[in-house]
Amino acid sequence: MEEIILLKLGELVLKGLNRRSFEDKLIANTRRRLQPFGKFRVYTKQSTMYAEPQEPGCDLDGAYEALKKVFGVVGLSRARACAKDKDAMLETAVSYLGDRLAAAKTFKVESKRADKSFPMTSIQLSQYVGGELDERYPNLKVDVHHPELTVYLEVRDYAAYVHADPEPGAGGLPVGINGRAVSLLSGGIDSPVASWMMAKRGLALDMVHFFSYPYTSPEARDKVLRLAELLTPWCGRLMVHVVPFTAIQEELRRKCPEELFTILMRRFMMRIAQAVAGRVKAGALITGESLGQVASQTMDAMRLTGGVCGLPILRPCVGMDKEEIVTIARKIGTFETSILPYEDCCTVFTPRHPRLHPLPGEIEAAEALLDVEGLVQAAVDGIERIKVGP
Ligand code: ATP
Ligand code: MG
Repeated sequence: MEEIILLKLGELVLKGLNRRSFEDKLIANTRRRLQPFGKFRVYTKQSTMYAEPQEPGCDLDGAYEALKKVFGVVGLSRARACAKDKDAMLETAVSYLGDRLAAAKTFKVESKRADKSFPMTSIQLSQYVGGELDERYPNLKVDVHHPELTVYLEVRDYAAYVHADPEPGAGGLPVGINGRAVSLLSGGIDSPVASWMMAKRGLALDMVHFFSYPYTSPEARDKVLRLAELLTPWCGRLMVHVVPFTAIQEELRRKCPEELFTILMRRFMMRIAQAVAGRVKAGALITGESLGQVASQTMDAMRLTGGVCGLPILRPCVGMDKEEIVTIARKIGTFETSILPYEDCCTVFTPRHPRLHPLPGEIEAAEALLDVEGLVQAAVDGIERIKVGP
C-alpha cells in the first residue's frame, strides 16, 4: 500500500470548542492547502487526520512540507499503510524503514491499538515486531529510553500504519474557527508576526496597508504584498486592501501640530481599518504594537488610537521584546523581507518630537479642524484590493 501522511490534531483545544466544527474547519483548510500537490483524500478519525494520495502524480514531499504550516495540527509523520496483521506490519517496517533500521544503533517499537478487536495487546505487538527486527538487523540494540530510531505501529479502523519520527506541527487552531480580523500590515518586522500569531489562534485575516505614494515607493508596496504572500502558507489566500493615505497625511501636516501628527495619523488608520472590517465582516483589528517600543506605543497613545474604534484591537506583540518578535519573524520566514530598506508611510512624516502622552482634549481640538468623515470616506473609496495566493 502507498505512503500517506498522518496528522495529530490538537486535542487539548477540543475541550473549549465544538469538536465537529474544529475538525470540519481543519479538513477544509487542509484540502485547500493540498490542492497544488495533487488529489488527496482527507478525513479524520480518532483525533488523527489522514491525507492519502489518490493518484500516482501526487507530490507527497510538497504536501508534507505544506501540512507543517497548517494550524490545528500538533504533529505529523509520513506513514505506510498495511494490513492489520503482525507479519504485514513487520514486513512493512522492513521495506519502508529498511535504510533507517540498517543505519541505527539503537531502536524501539511503540505500538498503538485503536482497533480493540486486534488480537494482540500493544505490548505483545511491540515485542513481536521488535524481537524480529532485532534478529534481522545485527547492528540494532533495543533501547526503550533513548532510542536513536522509534518505529511506530498504529492499528486503526481501516488499516495499520508504520512510521518513524513524527515531527511537530504548527499547533494553534484551524484558521477561521474563531472568525475574521483585519490586520494592519506595514512593511516592518512586527506586524507580519502579529498577523501570524493571531492566525495561529484561529482567525482568518484580511490585510490593510496604508500607502503614501509618492512619498513611499512602489517597491515599498511590493514589499508588503510579498510579506502577505509569505504568510499565505499559514493563513491561506489573503486579500490585501491597499489604502491611499497621502491625502490624509498632507492634510494633517497642513493643519495639525507636528507633535501630534503620529497619533492623529494612527487614529485615521484605525477608523479606516474599522470600515474595512465592517465590509469584510471582521470582528477585530490586529496591530504589531509593543508597549513602549516607540512614541505611539505608550499606554496613553494606545488608549487614544483605540478610542476611535468600537472593535477590539488585538496586539499579540504587546508584551514581547524586539528580540522575541525577531525570533518568530525568522522562524516564519518574514524577517529577511521585513528588513529590506524601504520607507514606511509612518517614517515619512515622523515628527521630530512626538508627544509621548497626548491628552484627549488636544487631539479633539486638532481633529475639529479636519473633515474626518470625508477624509476617511475618500480613503475607503480609493482602496485597491489585491488577492495574494501561496
Ligand atoms: P512594524 O514593525 O509592524 O511596522 P513598528 O514597530 O514599525 O511596527 P509602528 O510603525 O508604530 O511600529 O506601527 C505600529 C503598528 O501599526 C504596526 O505594527 C502595524 O500594525 C500598524 N501600521 C503601521 N504602519 C502601517 C502601514 N503603513 N500600513 C498598515 N499598518 C501599519
Ligand atoms: Mg512600522
